[in-house]
Amino acid sequence: MNIETIAVHSGRSVDPVTGAITPPIHMSTTFEREADGSYPHGFVYGRSGNPSRKLLEECVRDLEGGVAAAAFGSGMAAIMSVFQSLSPGDHVIAPRDIYHGTARLLREVMARWNLDTSFVDMTDIDVVRQAIIPSTRLLIVETPSNPLLKITDVAAMTEVARQRGITCLCDNTWASPALQRCIDLGADLVVHSTTKYLGGHGDVTGGIVVSARQDGLFEEIGRIQQQGGAVPSPFDCWLILRGIRTLPYRMRAHSESAAKVATFLDGHPKVLEVYYPGLKGHPGHDIARRQMDLFGGMLSFRVQGGREAAFRVAAGTSLFVRATSLGSYESLIEHRASIEGPESGTPDDLLRVSVGLENADDLISDLEQALTAGG
Ligand SMILES: *Cc1c(COP(=O)(O)O)cnc(C)c1O
Repeated sequence: MNIETIAVHSGRSVDPVTGAITPPIHMSTTFEREADGSYPHGFVYGRSGNPSRKLLEECVRDLEGGVAAAAFGSGMAAIMSVFQSLSPGDHVIAPRDIYHGTARLLREVMARWNLDTSFVDMTDIDVVRQAIIPSTRLLIVETPSNPLLKITDVAAMTEVARQRGITCLCDNTWASPALQRCIDLGADLVVHSTTKYLGGHGDVTGGIVVSARQDGLFEEIGRIQQQGGAVPSPFDCWLILRGIRTLPYRMRAHSESAAKVATFLDGHPKVLEVYYPGLKGHPGHDIARRQMDLFGGMLSFRVQGGREAAFRVAAGTSLFVRATSLGSYESLIEHRASIEGPESGTPDDLLRVSVGLENADDLISDLEQALTAGG
C-alpha cells in the first residue's frame, strides 16, 4: 500500500459501540478484569498499555514498514530507551553533527551509565568502519543532519553495521517516513521526535521507536517503555495520530516550498552558502535523491556579516517566527549556534529555517526584505 493510504487507514477502526469513525481518546487508567481473571481486550493499566497509544504505534509502525513500535512522551525519551537497552561498557558510534540533545544525553547522562560514544563524520564510510571496536553495539544515523543538512548514505551504513553485528538506529525525524523509509534501507530501529512532522501542528511533544523485528532488543525497549513509564498521554497520542493523517501531503508542500526558498537564497548576494540537499551543488544531493522521495522542509543558510547580521535578518522577518523546533505548519527561523551552546560547532552566521505551509512566494518576499534591511 502507498504511504498516503497507510497514513489515512492505519491505526483506526469504526467504534463497534457507537459507530464513531474517529477513534475516541481513551483516558481510563485501568481496565476491567473478567471474573476468570483475564483481560480480554489486552489492556490492564494505563502505563503498560492504552488503546489510543496502541493505535498510534500501529500507524507509525506501518508507515515505517516495521513490525512493532513503542511510543514515548518525547523524542528524547524514545532515544533514551534505546540507550537504556544497552549495557554499561557498550560503545556507541554517533554522527558528530547529531541532534544536540542526543549528543548531550550521551555525554552528560549516558556517560555515567558507562556508555562510551565516538562522535564521527558519518559522511565518510571509512571513518565509521575505523571507529568500530569490539564493544560497539549501536550505530546511529541521522539524515539529513542538523543544522548543516549533511546526507548520510543509510543503506551503506546499515550494511557496515550488519557486517559487524551492530544495531543500526536511524533518527528519521527530519525526513519522516513520508520521504525516507530507513527500515527498507536496512535499519534495525527507527526513532522519531513525533513533536515535529508527525504531530505537525506544534502542539504536542512525543517520540516513538519502530523496530524492524520483534526480537530481544525490542522486547527490552518495550520493558523500558512500560516499566520506566516515560509514556505519552492518550490525548497526546490522539493528537499525533490526527497529525499523521495529512503527513504525506504536508511533506510534499514543505518540500516544494523549501526548494523554492533554497533556490531564492542560493542566488542572493548577501547569502554566503545555502544548505539544502535538493540543490544540485549540495555534496549529498545524489545520495539524497536515491534514498529520499523529496528533500524535506528544512534548510540552513549563512549570511554575510557574521553573527550580528544573522540576528538582524532573523529579527527583520515578519512571517517567520523566531523559535526553535521544526515540522509545524508555520515557518520558523533560528540562530542555531546560540541555542546549541558553547559546544556547538555551528557557524555563527548560520540561520536554520523550518519552511512551513505558507505560500512560498510570501516567504521569499519576507526573506528578501529582511536580507535587504538587515544583511
Ligand atoms: C527534536 C528532535 C529530537 C528530540 O525530540 P523531543 O521531542 O524534543 O524530545 C531528536 N532528534 C531530532 C532529529 C530532533 O529534531
